Amino acid sequence: MIGLISATAAGAAARDRLAAAWPDRTRVYDGPVKDAVRSAFAECEQLVCFLATGAVVRLIAPLLGAKATDPGVVCVDEGGRFAVSLVGGHGGGANELARAVGESLAAQPVVTTATDAVGLPGLDTLGFPVEGAVAAVSRALLDGEPVALRAESAWPLPPLPLTEEGAHVVRVTDRAVEPAGNEVLLRPPSLVVGVGASRGAPADEVLGLVEDALRDAGLSPRSVAELATVDAKAEEPGIVTAAARLGVPLVTYSAGELAGIRVPNPSDAPRTAVGTPSVAEAAALARGGELLVPKRKSRRPDGRPAMATCAVVRRPARGRLAVVGLGPGARDLLTPRARAELRRAAVLVGLDQYVDQIRDLLRPGTRILESGLGAEEERARTAVAEARAGHAVALIGSGDAGVYAMASPALAEASDDVDVIGVPGVTAALAAGAILGAPLGHDHVSISLSDLHTPWEVIERRVRAAAEADIVVTFYNPRSRGRDWQLPKALAILAGHREPTTPVGVVRNASRPDESSRLTTLGELDPAWVDMMTVVTVGNTATRNIAGRMVTPRGYRWQESAQEEGR
Ligand code: SAH
Repeated sequence: MIGLISATAAGAAARDRLAAAWPDRTRVYDGPVKDAVRSAFAECEQLVCFLATGAVVRLIAPLLGAKATDPGVVCVDEGGRFAVSLVGGHGGGANELARAVGESLAAQPVVTTATDAVGLPGLDTLGFPVEGAVAAVSRALLDGEPVALRAESAWPLPPLPLTEEGAHVVRVTDRAVEPAGNEVLLRPPSLVVGVGASRGAPADEVLGLVEDALRDAGLSPRSVAELATVDAKAEEPGIVTAAARLGVPLVTYSAGELAGIRVPNPSDAPRTAVGTPSVAEAAALARGGELLVPKRKSRRPDGRPAMATCAVVRRPARGRLAVVGLGPGARDLLTPRARAELRRAAVLVGLDQYVDQIRDLLRPGTRILESGLGAEEERARTAVAEARAGHAVALIGSGDAGVYAMASPALAEASDDVDVIGVPGVTAALAAGAILGAPLGHDHVSISLSDLHTPWEVIERRVRAAAEADIVVTFYNPRSRGRDWQLPKALAILAGHREPTTPVGVVRNASRPDESSRLTTLGELDPAWVDMMTVVTVGNTATRNIAGRMVTPRGYRWQESAQEEGR
């Protein structure tokens, strides 16, 4: 039971909201605060006091006994802004309670326990099915006790403080073992089950065969990542239903591809039926791995010929490569998804100045591989190599990591043995657009003026095309100390098709502390305002400066008629 105590009207209002949200778990203690706290402290496992921390400290000081037996106490301030875990953070569950109260009352939870502030990930939030002593092992991690990692292969975990030895164990295994009392089992998606079936094979027969095969081989169904078969069986109802019941995708390969895979037990029947000497074994082995269960046939209750075959392969661990855009600079333009991926990664790869931008968000133990300007190829290679070694990697870039940044060189290196997760970010053109007004209200392009990797003729051809097509243009990498003639040249090309009065927005360090911007025109822009921290957005022939804001009309009819009527 959670005892609720308040003194003021505002406190009582917040208290009643919590009592209404958790009617079965809470009990309101009325009367003089001192007596209420004393009774609640004796009778409840937890207290939420809608009082100042100072008052609560004085009230509970004489009541405190031992860490293991005292209730957890949370304080909520008069304004309902904070839920402070005061005592009993772990043993009394006050940290969890502060979070839950925070959620319920829209208050900020305040947790000062070291291990919690560190923000360990929950074992049940890692993306792998989990079994066993989750609460006990989580508690051990939180309390800083040694927890041993026993991984049969290197599946990508976030940075957990796991050791070689410990009284508690996190075990990564696809074997059908029961967790010990001090153990958590994480089930990696390591098993691929190849299936073949004659037309009309019942789903129960296919599913029964798969389950028997896994059980006999001592493998956990929770580690099955996918069912695999030949294209011709992609719609076979028994197979489709079996995959659905196992909760895994069905992947299919062409007969030609399967025919090229060497298997221990080829046969003539599938060769005549679908054009490959093996379906189950070949489909299971199509992406490589170790054959744990060679082809076996279903057993039919009526003794008639089997209608299904299956084979089980353990595939190599798949690393995880998240390509994460950090946005233009401001912390609140970093998306929650980007933040989550940064905390999910055990290895972070990026340019040193971008790493500095988010270093405080990383979990302790994250391995940081930073490099200086110009080392793009090395960064891409490193990120992919780390992911292939089975790690959880985040490769970061400013703005959007796919825009003039690391995503394409990295993905050009990556083969399909790693999982790639892209997290979009607010690219400079959008950050600048929001500052300028609405310059991108109609068709627009981005053009990089860096001729480091692109010949100038190519760049010029694209600028010319944009000029002729009357498209709004945002220039990235517009001008640097050693590269100063490209911007005037590009602007001159646009000026061949647009009036000198065409609005041009120049935004430097968008969303960063020294942000600046100006709205000028094609005729008046001074290239000296522009450097490598800047984007330059040139309007089309319809773009206007309206009340100091750059606006490219969307072309709505109602706007035209409004303008004609002088409204
Ligand atoms: N991936 C980045 C772009 C990298 S290219 C993105 O999506 O934004 C580098 C160029 O981007 C710089 O030369 C500059 O033109 C532009 N740029 C990046 N961040 C910027 C910011 N905060 N303000 C203005 N321009 C920026």
